[in-house]
Amino acid sequence: MEQTIVRLRDEATQQLTQISNAADLEEFRIRYLGRKGLFGTIMRELGTVSAEERPRLGQLANSVKAAIEDLFAEKQTALAGDTRTKKGQGSIDISLPGRYPEQGRLHPVTQIMNEVCAIFEALGFSVAEGPDVEQDHYNFEALNIPAHHPARDMHDSFYVSESILLRTHTSPMQARIMEACQPPLRVIAPGKVYRCDSDITHTPMFHQVEGFLVDTKVSFADLKGVLTIFTQKMFAKDLALRFRPSFFPFTEPSAEVDIACVICGGAGCRVCKQTGWLEILGAGMIDPEVFRMVGYDPEVYSGFAFGLGIERIAMLKYGINDIRLYYENDLRFLSQF
Ligand SMILES: [Zn+2]
Repeated sequence: MEQTIVRLRDEATQQLTQISNAADLEEFRIRYLGRKGLFGTIMRELGTVSAEERPRLGQLANSVKAAIEDLFAEKQTALAGDTRTKKGQGSIDISLPGRYPEQGRLHPVTQIMNEVCAIFEALGFSVAEGPDVEQDHYNFEALNIPAHHPARDMHDSFYVSESILLRTHTSPMQARIMEACQPPLRVIAPGKVYRCDSDITHTPMFHQVEGFLVDTKVSFADLKGVLTIFTQKMFAKDLALRFRPSFFPFTEPSAEVDIACVICGGAGCRVCKQTGWLEILGAGMIDPEVFRMVGYDPEVYSGFAFGLGIERIAMLKYGINDIRLYYENDLRFLSQF
């Protein structure tokens, strides 16, 4: 009996070292370690040996079986590692096409901004950019909005300090450029502006384009002409324009400008609230007081200025009814443009 156990141990150890694949290893497991395997037979035969011999032989048989099981497990791990490596090598199919990075696009707001700039550049305007963090002086004072002026209530400003704020409009560039340059001037100033406001048609940050022209003998007719060309090019349609009297502290007279509804063409629909008109920008003749503050003689020079919201133009052009969609960065939305 003892000899059988020792022989079985030597034989099993010997065989295990020669095994080199999973099928052979499984065969080995069934032959030696399975329920009807050779070690099982020995365990059953232990019942027939004498009571004095049984503990010693039982212990021997158990330790041999445990040793073989350990060797078996080692072999199993080694073979599994091999298979993984082989599989890894085999799975690279160099004939498959590569993965291309997705192509990005310009954000719709950027696209409209570029379009607006291109239209005005074609009309001889130059583009100027200014700081987002602005002095109270340029944002308000130089535009004829002194401290405690009620017009300041129209702008829910983000103040950084007593005299510094995030610009509430792009109009400060008007004052900055007029202060630094002499007429004639034709300038547009695109950029981000900030107001403490958020709902379906307002976001705390949005984009504006400020435009102004200063020369001798500039009239309201010039303003109307420039804006007519702009709306025609922007919406690729000959749209009617309407000027409504309004008030801005830095222009006199001032007007809100409407275009015939791009959706219904003026017949009346939900977008234009049945009026047939859509408001697109504010404009006016530059106030003589603004000229005086930058040292221009209002008796010699005249000019017009206008300011338009880029998001507003994009909403009208693409028929979008919620401004917040621009800033949620949902690719399903953005990839349409
Ligand atoms: Zn309409």
